[in-house]
Amino acid sequence: MTRGYNFSAGPATLPLSVLQQAQAELLEWHDLGVSLMELGHRTPPFVEMVEKVEHQLRQLLAIPADYHVLFLPGGARIQFAMLPLNLLRDRTKVDYVDTGIWSQIALQEAQRYADVHTVASAAASNYTTIPDVHTWQCRNDAAYVHYTDNETMQGVEFHTIPACDKDVVLATDMTSSLLSKPLAIDKFGIIYAGAQKNLGIAGLSVVIVRADLVGQAHPHTPTVYNYQKAAETRSLYATPPTYPWYITGLVCDWVQQQGGVAALAAVNARKAAKLYAFIDNNAFYANPVAPAYRSRMNVVFTLANPGLNETFLTEAQRHGLHYLKGHSLVGGMRASIYNALPESGVDALLVFMQDFVRRYG
Ligand SMILES: *Cc1c(COP(=O)(O)O)cnc(C)c1O
Repeated sequence: MTRGYNFSAGPATLPLSVLQQAQAELLEWHDLGVSLMELGHRTPPFVEMVEKVEHQLRQLLAIPADYHVLFLPGGARIQFAMLPLNLLRDRTKVDYVDTGIWSQIALQEAQRYADVHTVASAAASNYTTIPDVHTWQCRNDAAYVHYTDNETMQGVEFHTIPACDKDVVLATDMTSSLLSKPLAIDKFGIIYAGAQKNLGIAGLSVVIVRADLVGQAHPHTPTVYNYQKAAETRSLYATPPTYPWYITGLVCDWVQQQGGVAALAAVNARKAAKLYAFIDNNAFYANPVAPAYRSRMNVVFTLANPGLNETFLTEAQRHGLHYLKGHSLVGGMRASIYNALPESGVDALLVFMQDFVRRYG
């Protein structure tokens, strides 16, 4: 077997031990005589498993009791629509911060349901900074203000939770950053994340929402995606994506084994720091993001000679360094170094990048 390092932005690399456990349990799960994939979602062993996953997530992220933790089918883009449908309540207005492509897609989807106002935009810096929270023009009567914690394509991340001057409900897309750092959950009204980056595999989203905000969903909200309904049914109203839910459980086990979110955050900071330091100290490579806003999860970089991009990618792949191509909307390269991408993978990438400059620089 030649399993390399997978720098894909998503679906992304999983811890090897998670894949191995899934493999070992594929044909029969917990002595039940059937695979988990074949197990009814209302059977006691399945319900027990999902209760354990919720409990683990609550522990790992120190989620207060007055928040629901929901496990919903599909990816983050579904939540782009479900957020206004569920949280507009008696209001009509929602505020969005534009820090990159994912913020824009979230904002555009919300426009189908609400009066959307862009409170701040990083467009002027070509999305290499984050607008200071004190400049955000939040509206008093907005149902929430939304931001994208980590812009997966541009490699821009909030390193502190923005504290708005106004008392507004904070909503955030943490698809590419949840579980990568400790969080003060009580600062948020809602956090949502597709699972396929840091939490597991495609098909599932996690929504962490303050209980008092749910219960007034728009009548057109699909029942399956009604947060209140999901909270009342332990996310078991409809048949859920059972296998992705199970994988998220294995990932939670793994995060616990690593010492928890704070321990992983320290490793993540170290991984990102050495990659950025190398890029900054080497004229052949460049990263455009202002250092204070650089993502610890997605490190974008360009080569001084873009004519060498294809050579770089082909040779990287031969060295077992996979999927380093940047998003087509951004160009260049992108090393996604989520929780599950080991530090040895970053080290291997650095050796390769160094060697590449020596030969082509
Ligand atoms: C990947 C990603 C999404 C999109 O997720 P889907 O599951 O494809 O809908 C949304 N937001 C962010 C920040 C992402 O990284």
